[in-house]
Amino acid sequence: MEEKGTISIHTENIFPIIKKFLYSDHEIFLRELVSNAVDATQKLKKLASMGEFKEELGDLKIQVKLNKDAKTITISDKGIGMTAEEIKKYINQIAFSGATEFVEKYKDKGEQQLIGFFGLGFYSAFMVSSKVEIITKSYKEGSEAARWECDGSTQFEITKTVKKERGTDVVLHIAEDSTEFLDNYRLKSILDKYCKFLPVEIEFDGKVINNVAPIWTKQPSELKEEDYQNFYKELYPFSEPPLFHIHLNVDYPFNLTGILYFPKVKNNFEVHKNKIQLYSKQVFITDEVKDVVPEFLMLLHGVIDSPDIPLNVSRSFLQADSNVKKINNHITKKVADKLSEMYNNDPKGFEEKWEYIELFVKYGMITEDKFYDKAKDFCLLKNVKGEFYTLEKYKEHIKANQTDKSDNVVALYTSDTGKQDIFIQSAENKGYDVVVLSSPIDSHFVNLLERKLDKFNLKRVDSDSIDKLIDKDIKLESILTEDEKKTVKELFEKAINNSSYTVSLESLSVEELPVSITLPEFMRRMKDMANTGGMGMMGALPETYNVVVNENHALIKKILSQTDEESKIKVAKQAYDLALLSQGMLKGSDLTSFIKRSVELASA
Ligand code: ADP
Repeated sequence: MEEKGTISIHTENIFPIIKKFLYSDHEIFLRELVSNAVDATQKLKKLASMGEFKEELGDLKIQVKLNKDAKTITISDKGIGMTAEEIKKYINQIAFSGATEFVEKYKDKGEQQLIGFFGLGFYSAFMVSSKVEIITKSYKEGSEAARWECDGSTQFEITKTVKKERGTDVVLHIAEDSTEFLDNYRLKSILDKYCKFLPVEIEFDGKVINNVAPIWTKQPSELKEEDYQNFYKELYPFSEPPLFHIHLNVDYPFNLTGILYFPKVKNNFEVHKNKIQLYSKQVFITDEVKDVVPEFLMLLHGVIDSPDIPLNVSRSFLQADSNVKKINNHITKKVADKLSEMYNNDPKGFEEKWEYIELFVKYGMITEDKFYDKAKDFCLLKNVKGEFYTLEKYKEHIKANQTDKSDNVVALYTSDTGKQDIFIQSAENKGYDVVVLSSPIDSHFVNLLERKLDKFNLKRVDSDSIDKLIDKDIKLESILTEDEKKTVKELFEKAINNSSYTVSLESLSVEELPVSITLPEFMRRMKDMANTGGMGMMGALPETYNVVVNENHALIKKILSQTDEESKIKVAKQAYDLALLSQGMLKGSDLTSFIKRSVELASA
């Protein structure tokens, strides 16, 4: 038996195109060939289990061998092998037509990245080889061994050969421009990346490199907590232990297995992205799971394995794919259910973890409505006293004391307990509660809550004078006459001497601060929006603070009682500077002159 022939394809020069398009990801040839070897081995096992193959299976290990002198890489399996007829059918026709179709489809698109992570099957061998040989012997009784050879042109050759054992050797004669692959370390790292969890043992350099039964292929009931911890360490040797995990295990209406881990996420979320690995039947596909997993879940770690995720289509198709959508929804639901179960079973334990999961939960609530619907029952608000409440419970908690004249429940929050302490104290004096919303995502979260919760407003403690924050329409009689009010306003304007600070007088209770500086809630939200993206021109928003002067404070009388205007302005300035100081806004030369003035006033 000897045969030479021409592979019939439309594109004469398929290999240069394959090479060009897969340029950035040549290394996947090894994944493709080892996967084929695994498939061939599993097919044989299947035949044996059905009684169609009756001989001893023997050692089914797949071998990957590097021969630097001969400049070859050989992948050997003891699977079903092929007859000469099968080579013609599967390698010359089917595999080739697949590769041709692929090239036809993508040659004009230049979608490098896409092509990069979807394999091309057997023909990806030509990305790195100047010649490929297949030496194979079928499992079928009385089969003769066959040898196929092709140098990357459309010419091939099939000859008879001698091979003792059943199975296939694929010998790659590495091309001059791909000698980087003639390196043990490089091959090992490629195998580690793509083949670490393949279901058949793979030996390289005398060692088995894979774990054939990773825990996501097992039933949760077979596993202990320790197994999950160990697997996490295997995946991310340098990471802190995770908080908890979810074991995914679905077989209908789509196939999905996997383990998702919750890392401790504080404000460092960039660090955590791209940590989920996507597998298809234990073959590593990618760690860019962007379109397969909802955006907010990308903060999780772990693996997902699904043969139902289409791997050979473009990105936009992937997003529209109904399986991908179902998988997305399923994962979202599982994650929400897990969190909800944790909260219900052990609210205290959940509170302790809250600081590490809040960012993630809030991000999810903001970006996925379905997640919001579940998360609203376990999303927590923490007040300055360190007490936790769910949203509804919090609303109940503050309702009696914090409902304004229009029947809105007003929640007060602080973004910085240190800087806003003076306002927090003033709120607490009134018996108001203050929640801490200090994570970077909270400005969006505040908007979300107001949108979702009925008759519910959130105001930052320093956004208005305390009586206006929760306007109950109770007017306090002022102790100043209209003339005095006018004078006080002018004195402060002169003392401040800065047009971006608006002075307003209010009749507040005597215990309130004489002067406070507020940034209106709406103004701050505009600024937040400008800062978090988009709205370019908004970035230049002026700082327009309100200086609220408490008409009823004893200090105001003291200002008015000074003999000359200069001393009046001096005391007003001192009161204003104190307000600035209490909010950490007094700096530089202003701070220095305040200190000097204080010393002077104290020694007078
Ligand atoms: P795919 O694996 O997606 O079918 P490939 O181009 O990788 O496409 O392979 C084409 C066909 O060649 C396979 O379906 C299989 O029938 C045959 N084949 C490839 N490698 C082997 C092997 N190591 N042993 C037996 N058959 C193989």
